[in-house]
Amino acid sequence: MTLPLYGTASSSTGLPADRRRSVVRLRSVDSTANRCPEDFALVKSAEQFNAALKAGWSSIFLVSDGWYENHEQIAKNCALFTVPHKFAYLGDGDVLGFDHSSAKFRTLFRRSSAHNSFLVTERCNNYCLMCSQPPKDVEDQWILKEIRESLPLIDPSAKAITFTGGETLSDWRDFIGLLKDCRDRLPHTSIQVLTNGRAFANSEVVDAWKDLKHPSLMAAIPVYASVDSIHDHVVQAKGAFDETILGILKLKDRGQRVEIRVVLHALTAPIIVKTCSWIARNLPFVDHVALMGLENTGFAIANDASLWIDPMDYRDELAKAVDCLLSADVKVSIYNLPKCVLNKSIWPHAVQSISDWKNGFVEECDGCQEKIVCSGFFTTGRPKFSRGIHAITL
Ligand code: SF4
Repeated sequence: MTLPLYGTASSSTGLPADRRRSVVRLRSVDSTANRCPEDFALVKSAEQFNAALKAGWSSIFLVSDGWYENHEQIAKNCALFTVPHKFAYLGDGDVLGFDHSSAKFRTLFRRSSAHNSFLVTERCNNYCLMCSQPPKDVEDQWILKEIRESLPLIDPSAKAITFTGGETLSDWRDFIGLLKDCRDRLPHTSIQVLTNGRAFANSEVVDAWKDLKHPSLMAAIPVYASVDSIHDHVVQAKGAFDETILGILKLKDRGQRVEIRVVLHALTAPIIVKTCSWIARNLPFVDHVALMGLENTGFAIANDASLWIDPMDYRDELAKAVDCLLSADVKVSIYNLPKCVLNKSIWPHAVQSISDWKNGFVEECDGCQEKIVCSGFFTTGRPKFSRGIHAITL
């Protein structure tokens, strides 16, 4: 099941009238941490509701399936936000964004999760055939503002945060400002930025990135082929390959960390050995290469006929591609592909990469000895399954 990360409140009262949106943090009723104005008591039972009132909370977030009928009356001096029971997964330290007029809200950060990512914008100058977040040309600069407001509320011991889009560098000056805030407020948190890399062809952008001097910052940039016309076709943007490669070269020239990502589908998987040989020969100085199974959602569903390929049909090429990178001393991982469809020789490189909120398994997995270390499957969109899925047993 996919965890619901956004929804609409069944009721909301007492939110500030002078602004359209708020960012708030949930706190356990009995939390001893210093309260700030953005903190709401997280209440999931009548007992906790009474305890919150007794403890003087003036902002209460109710996860309610109707256990307390007249709570608004009782807490009439409080800001109250009530959401359905399916959001009971929310916990102490989680951060949410509220839209006051629509009562819509989104989970921005889950303290207990290792997979926190922020969507920075829906705009993009690529239009990839398999994009899981199809771009929209909308005014969404408010999202960056909301993320900046949420940073002071995030647990500073968070290990990692990913920024994704759209193209994260669409408003590059504002985004660099956000990364500065990350550096200053969350100095122990690794930051990964998913970007198509084209903005780094501009030296002004790459210099600003370098000048951040962030202690743990990685740009994750897709390269889909060693041939410009194939890459440009996959991203539906002429000239994108040249800009992306120039961007990678400029980042590495300035000592910045770069991961290359290759999403595997019917246009890229059959040529993966050639692509990886080219990377090994021309870009052996990148910090990591991720060879990634396809998430069948967004544009990938619309383009299914030209993109779907059973991983069983490229497993040997994938193993050769991994060998090729390793022989050039390039670190490589396999993302999003279950172990049973991979050659055993590359199992050590397969990692559990799918975010916890959209990760699932199938019936065959119940008896599988590798389940505990297997990536499993995406639960989003229309998952497609390989003919090779089978329980691995001794
Ligand atoms: S059967 Fe399931 S758990 Fe086992 S390797 Fe395949 S996908 Fe992973």
